[in-house]
Order: sequence, then structure tokens, then C-alpha cells
Amino acid sequence: MSYTDRLIIKKSKQARNYTLRLNHKERCIYLVMPHRSSEKRALHFADRHRHWIEEKLSTLPHAIPFEHSEIIPLFDVPTLIHITYDQRRKTTHINHLDRKLDVLTNQESPSSRIERYLKKFAKEHLTTLTHEKAAELGKKVNKVSIRDTSSRWGSCSSDGNISLSWRLIFAPIEAIDYVISHEVAHLKHMDHSRNFWEVCESLCEDYTFGKQWIRDEGYSLMRYGANV
Ligand SMILES: [Zn+2]
Repeated sequence: MSYTDRLIIKKSKQARNYTLRLNHKERCIYLVMPHRSSEKRALHFADRHRHWIEEKLSTLPHAIPFEHSEIIPLFDVPTLIHITYDQRRKTTHINHLDRKLDVLTNQESPSSRIERYLKKFAKEHLTTLTHEKAAELGKKVNKVSIRDTSSRWGSCSSDGNISLSWRLIFAPIEAIDYVISHEVAHLKHMDHSRNFWEVCESLCEDYTFGKQWIRDEGYSLMRYGANV
């Protein structure tokens, strides 16, 4: 595969120069170019930086698609995806057993069905954990929503709504716990003041590890469900 297959060119009115950026979610390189410049010049720019581009692409953690015999961690439990294809079936059914997702399906490629299941699983469990954590602080969460964001793992609005990335389910427990603690601590302090960090740390199981993991390794959560 040539590097240009993994290159997406975007015109921007704000851009003054060409910039290259690795996108972990889409597993490609974005080349942002000034609005008035030509695509030909952009490609020429990319070509001059092809080594950088190839090197960046090679740093992507290998993809773990939702396919037969792949193993995905779910709240630290290595879980095997086992797919049984049966064309006589009318629907796809997923049994979530201990360490195994047993997928019975009439679809040749049920990965989007598996993703839908995992998002539902994420919503259920991350919502419960968030409410429990808020109760520890004597606060109430208005609503928990689950998103598919590419860089922010969580956010908290001033009216007490918390949103979290569904991909957190693939992270170590301490990292999940840190992100939830962080957003719940915002129910008390809407800033990143010293008081905020004190509350956040007091809610965490392992503040140091969790915070560092999500900062340094969080991007690797994008590998799940990816294909290339
Ligand atoms: Zn924050």
C-alpha cells in the first residue's frame, strides 16, 4: 500500500502553511493546506515528507478488528471474539460469557453488529460507574452519554451532563477510573484549579497510573474495531 492511500488532503481557510498530522482514529495522515493553494503543490509537499509520513504511519498500534479469534480487553478481561456463521439464522445474537463473546450470526461480516453491542455494553457499565463515583462525592450526574470522540475521553458540562468515550472499555481499569473521576470532580469544580485536582485524586483508585496511561497510551484505544 502506498502512503498516498492513507493521506487525506483538507483545505482550510485558516491555514497559512501545509501541516501534516497523524489521525489515530482514521489511521491516516491529514495534510491541511491553505485554501488557495493547489492540490498539486500539496502532493509535492507530501512527497518531500514521505519518510516522515511513512514513519508516522508505522507507529500506529496494529489494528484489532472485531473479527473471529481476535481478543479484546473489556474492563481488563481479555475477551475472545468467537463467531459462528449460520445462514439459516434470522438475526445476530451475541452471548457475552466470561472471557468470550459468542457471536451467532447470519452475516458474513458482523463487525458492525459487534461494535453496536460493545457500545451498548459501554453505555451500561460506564453510566453505572459514573453514578457510583458521583455518589461518593455526594453529587448527582444529570445525564451520562457515550460518544465516539477522537481525542477527548470525557467531558462535563456546567449543567451536570457527563459524556465519555465508549472506547474506554478497552483501557485498563485505573485509566477508566481516572477519566470518570476527572469528570465527576468537575461536578464540584468546573475548572482545573488545585482544589479540582485534589478532589480528582481523592476519587481515583490509582491517580498516577491512570492519568499517565490515558495521556500516553490513550491513542491506542483507537485500534479496536479498525481494519487496516
Ligand atoms: Zn477537566
